[in-house]
Order: sequence, then structure tokens, then C-alpha cells
Amino acid sequence: MEACRYFVLLAALLVGLVTASLVDNRIDQFELDRSGINSCNLPDGLLQEIKGYQPIVNKIISRIVDGEFAGITWDSLSLLVDTFGARLAGSEQLEKTIDYVVEQMKLDQLENVHTENATVPHWVRGYENAQLVAPFKKNLPLLGLGTTVGTPRGGIIADVMAVESFEEFESITAEQVKGKIVVFVPKWEGYGKTVLYRSKGASVASKKGAVATLIRSVTPFSIGSPHTGGQDYEEGVKKIPSACITVEDAEMILRKYRRGDQMTIHLEMEDRNLEPVISRNTIAELVGTTYTNSSVVVVSGHLDSWDVGVGAMDDGGGALISWKALTFLNAMGLRPKRTIRAILWTGEEEGYWGARGYQAAHKENEKKEFNFFFESDIGTFEPRGLDFSGNKDAECIFREVVKLMSSLNATDFETPTDGGPDVSLWTRRGFPGASLMNKNEKYFWFHHSAGDSMAVEDPKNLDKCTALWAAAAYVVADLSVSIPKDVND
Ligand SMILES: [Zn+2]
Repeated sequence: MEACRYFVLLAALLVGLVTASLVDNRIDQFELDRSGINSCNLPDGLLQEIKGYQPIVNKIISRIVDGEFAGITWDSLSLLVDTFGARLAGSEQLEKTIDYVVEQMKLDQLENVHTENATVPHWVRGYENAQLVAPFKKNLPLLGLGTTVGTPRGGIIADVMAVESFEEFESITAEQVKGKIVVFVPKWEGYGKTVLYRSKGASVASKKGAVATLIRSVTPFSIGSPHTGGQDYEEGVKKIPSACITVEDAEMILRKYRRGDQMTIHLEMEDRNLEPVISRNTIAELVGTTYTNSSVVVVSGHLDSWDVGVGAMDDGGGALISWKALTFLNAMGLRPKRTIRAILWTGEEEGYWGARGYQAAHKENEKKEFNFFFESDIGTFEPRGLDFSGNKDAECIFREVVKLMSSLNATDFETPTDGGPDVSLWTRRGFPGASLMNKNEKYFWFHHSAGDSMAVEDPKNLDKCTALWAAAAYVVADLSVSIPKDVND
């Protein structure tokens, strides 16, 4: 730990102590123990203070997992997705869901329930069909990628070429590519790396004259399911239709192409991009006892989804645990020093449009306004712990907070991370944040596919995720010190 940071932390602790003395009696512990140092160089007083939250953390967890709140998160999520279905940005279904959530948050007696506008893209899927027409007929299940253009009416019929990687594609001349449908069949190398084919494939192929791209779905496992997702057209490059096909079909096409088989595909897509529309982030608070509109602790997930499946996993679960964490803390009469603010983002799937709008609107005062950002957008399976992004002092404090989650068996701690896609707009610039780690080994099996449904969500695991969320947010919001940060603009 750098000396100056340590000084800042001590100073913050002292300021915190003065404030804390007004609102609770933990000050005695600080005065007794502050001289001690642990391996992370946290003052003993602060260490003891964090440990002092164990009984309240255990109580929050047991009430949510085994008490009167058990099962509510799953029930509420199932009611939401069964009532409104998928929630694509720009759709009436998403806006109706937002209206419904606002009403329900008010019924839960949350405070400052409101929405804030954000502009989101409005892409719509139309009729989509792909057929291998030669050397034999085979239907190719597909899903156009968000923001893809359609084909001309009646579709296109073109010869096929297939490659495994961008490197392999680079070695092929434009002459060979011109007029073809290019099929990218990357091996699964984890989401972050493999997804580049989905996001950039169309522009890479278009530069050499391809007429469309079909991409192996970005998943490690498949039972014949195409998976959609976002994609970006590079500026100045001709926009060509782009869709994902199943792992099985993509691999077959690659094998056949390498054997020298001539293949022809008929591809028809009526997908189109409309004018952007105004959507809304959905916000509710548990107002702090000491700080009301500063040093806010954000808990968040996104309410929008792709248009296939019902977005129960991505990210209905993350949105619901953020909302219900506040509901249950409120029902327990627990009110921390700082405000906990649930934000259910809109337009995440097309590129964090809700978070971008929110960031722009709150930019001026953001250093004062925000203390910490939680986000859950990588599944709500059985929780393992929390991963963290922030400076060393913040990390030392947060490590101790995570240790409190032992009754959930959720004490794993990893760093650094982006904290989650939406909140990375803040955490990448030095705001501290954390993302829910869970046993999500099968997350990408269902991700962005028709398989993203309530069947993936387990009531007990959702309770555990809500409990972890509520307990961690409560402790961070109630500590006598704010979580330290080094913010770049
Ligand atoms: Zn998501």
C-alpha cells in the first residue's frame, strides 16, 4: 500500500468515525484497535468493524434463504417473464415491463421509484430463413445478429466458403471471397475471445466482397440451437447481412469446404434498423440515514433482453436480485447510512445504452454521488462470491466484506475485473465495483438463445444470490468509511 493512500484511508476513517459516532456505537472498537495492522494494512478498528457485521449479515441471509422471503425472487421473476416475455430494446414489451416494475417497486414500498430516459437502438428481427440448397437440401436454423441489415426481398443465393479464424481469412484473396457467403467457424476459446467473430465478422468479410456472413454460435455446447447477440459494422464498410447458425451446421460446413465440396446457400432475412427510441432505466432506493444523495451504493442488472427466449437468465435474474435486495432490507427495517440504489438498466444488449445515458446525465457530480457499483449480469446460479474492481485500499476493505458471506459458502474473491458490462463505464475509470460470481459453467449454453427461460433458474439459488446482494450492499452502504477510489475522467 502506498504511504499517501494509507494516509488518505486513515483520514477517511477518522472522518467516518466522527460521523459514525452520531449514528452508532461502533466507535469504541475503533479507538481500541486502530493501532493494529493486518496483512492488508487495514486499521484493526476497521477490521473489527467489518467483522462486527457478521450477525446482521447472517440474519439477512437466513431471512432471505430460509425465512419469509424464500422463493419470492423466483416467483417475481417468473411472473415478470411469463407476463411480458422477451424485452428487446425498442419494443413495447420492454416498455410495458418497465411500467410494471415501477408499479411493483412502489407496492414494495421502495423509495424514490422513478425512471430516467435513455436513447436506445431500435432493431427488429424479421422473417429469417437459411437453406443449404446444394449439394443437398438442409434447413439451417439461424438468428440474425442485433443491428444486422436484411437481404433483398426473396433473399440471396450464393456459394459458400468457410474459415476457422480471421488469420486464415486474411490469407484468402478478395477475388476468392467476392460474391460468397462467408462462414466463420471459430473454436470456442471462452466468450471474450470467440465473440469477436460475432461482433466483427460481417465487416471483415465485407471488405473482401462477401455478400453475407454466417457465424458459428458463440457457445461451448449446443443441441442445434442458434445464439444471437450484438454485432458492429465498421464505419465506411458496406453493411452485409450477418447471422449465427448452429455449432453443428457450422462445423459440418467447414468440414465439407475443406474437403472441396461446393456448397450453395439460400439466405433470406427481413431484419431492419429503425430510428432510435427513448427507453428508460428503472430506479428505486433505500434512502440512507446519514447520506441521502451522495456516496450511493448501486446494485444493478439489466431489464432488457434479446428477443429470443425470455431473458430470465440474461438478465432477468440480475435485475430481480437487485430489486428484491432492496425490498427485503426494507421489509426487515434495515436502513444503512448510505443510500442503496437499485438500477435496472435498459438497452444493455445493444451496447450499454441505458448505462451510457445514465452516466451522461449524472456525470457532473459523479465523484460525490457514487460510492460503489454492484452488477449481476453473468448468471444467478449458486453464488460463489464477488469479484472486485478498484484500488488497493478499496480491495483490502472489500476482501473483508466478502469473508462475511461464509454461511452462503460464497466467500470467493477475485480481482481485477470490469465489475460487469454496464458498470464498467464507471469501474474502468477507478470507481470501485463488484460483480456476482456464481456457478455459471453452463451460462453460455443458454445465453442469447431460445433456451434462456425460467427452466434455467433455480428458486434456492436465486434466494442465495439475492441474500448475497442484500448483505454485501448493506455492509458497504453502512460502513463508517466510504470505499476509497481513484477516479480518472
Ligand atoms: Zn446480459
